[in-house]
Amino acid sequence: MVNRSIACNVRDCKYHAQNENYCTLNAIQVVNHTTPATTKESTDCGSFEKK
Ligand code: SF4
Repeated sequence: MVNRSIACNVRDCKYHAQNENYCTLNAIQVVNHTTPATTKESTDCGSFEKK
C-alpha cells in the first residue's frame, strides 16, 4: 500500500509504488552512508532493495 508519509523517487527499489513517487513500506530505516554525515549524500535509505 502506498505510504504518503514517505515520498521517494527511487523507482529502482522493489518497495517503490511505481505509479506514484512514494514508498510502500510502513516505515523505513535511514542510515549513514559516511560517518560523520556532512551532506545529504552522506545519508541513505537502509530499507532499499533491488527490484
Ligand atoms: S525502501 Fe527506501 S528507497 Fe525503497 S521505495 Fe522505500 S523509501 Fe524509497
